[in-house]
Amino acid sequence: MTMKLGNRRYTDELSAANDGEQVCIAGWVHEKRDLGGVFFLIIRDLKGLAQVTLHRGNVDAELFRRVKRVPRESVVAIEGRVKSEEKAPAGYEIIPERMEVLSEASPVLPLDTTDKVVAELDTRLDARFMDLRRERVKHIFIIRSRVLKAMRDFFDEHGFIEINTPKVVSAATEGGTALFPISYFEREAFLNQSPQLYKQMLMASGFDRVYEIAPIFRAEEHDTTRHLNEATSADIEVAFATMEDVMAILEELIAFVYARIADYPGLSSLGVDLEVPKLPFKRITYDEAIEMLSEAGEHIEWGEDLSTSAEQMLGEMIGEHYFITDWPSAIKPFYAQPSAHRSDICDAFDLMHPRLELASGSQRVHSYELLKSKIESKGLSADSFEFYLEAFRYGMPPHAGWGLGVERLLMSMLEIGNIREVVLFPRDRRRLVP
Ligand code: ATP
Ligand code: MG
Repeated sequence: MTMKLGNRRYTDELSAANDGEQVCIAGWVHEKRDLGGVFFLIIRDLKGLAQVTLHRGNVDAELFRRVKRVPRESVVAIEGRVKSEEKAPAGYEIIPERMEVLSEASPVLPLDTTDKVVAELDTRLDARFMDLRRERVKHIFIIRSRVLKAMRDFFDEHGFIEINTPKVVSAATEGGTALFPISYFEREAFLNQSPQLYKQMLMASGFDRVYEIAPIFRAEEHDTTRHLNEATSADIEVAFATMEDVMAILEELIAFVYARIADYPGLSSLGVDLEVPKLPFKRITYDEAIEMLSEAGEHIEWGEDLSTSAEQMLGEMIGEHYFITDWPSAIKPFYAQPSAHRSDICDAFDLMHPRLELASGSQRVHSYELLKSKIESKGLSADSFEFYLEAFRYGMPPHAGWGLGVERLLMSMLEIGNIREVVLFPRDRRRLVP
């Protein structure tokens, strides 16, 4: 390699103002257009596209032949002169003097990167490295990165400590949902379905406000557009706090993240106009939800979970983010605190986007005796929760928390229908590769 790639310029650093400058750019061969007397090579890098123009007769014949021959999606470096050109999409073109092929692409591509041919999601995910070269897809992941950064900044500004809890665990978090068993030396272990037990145990440590953004694993066999078998959960747990306190943190976080992303230029390539939601979010109780549904002709038996169609009906009626609170204890986990004014409901909530559930949380049981009996009443063995229960015996403050699906948040923000779109390499029932 002879070109100095360290000096390479991104396509968006150049403009008509650089007219006459000698530059080096590097990237992928996005497109080739042969108009007879003139040949356009479109180079794509992280920041955009540049037009490289070759006038037959004006450039070295050997260079002309090589440029014409280089397969699309090959990685090349080009040295040449910037020329201001009104007709070029970026207002400038590059008149090449040298081209180095750094990596030649095989001629038959698994996927088209110019969006001229629309591929099925499965085909795209099979060739994900290539799919990620597409403008729209690239922006999804830059936004994902910014959303995660925004969350960390928010938690930081609100006095949270970031924690990392084990992903290989010995007991089910909540029974119920299926776990992935793994072999752990001579024992069986599981991939954790939620950091719930550990973040609660840390409330006994005096850390007061903790958060974790990490994978959760769920072996449910669902094949839906909003479930993954490996998802990313943003979890918090807050000591000396009530359900209302952590609901307020949650809605503030959502508004904070929206505000951070709202002026990101790449949103336009996704066709999204992001409006920061107004606070506070609407709050309805479970009883009010089933009442609204019944008026709309959808009957939910008291104590039943809301079906997907029921969630969607409510979403249509409400039309913005909302909380459902005061759930029947029977359909919420054992660690949800029973309500002080009614024994059959608990201080638990779900945060809903009109299209889907984003988060679940609750005030937690912090009495050892009550927690133990609630574990048993769910048909679980208190013995396998001993390591967790211990933390409630020597001074456990009242606490509350929630878990927010990062992918759910992204798909709802970006109006994306399938959750797989917002994960680099999604894991579902049928997909373990790539
Ligand atoms: P759902 O009822 O939508 O399947 P859940 O109530 O079983 O979700 P929780 O245990 O409440 O899920 O988990 C907290 C949050 O984590 C959910 O609100 C959701 O945003 C996210 N989440 C849970 N399971 C999945 C999954 N399989 N794929 C993607 N996100 C998930
Ligand atoms: Mg839930």
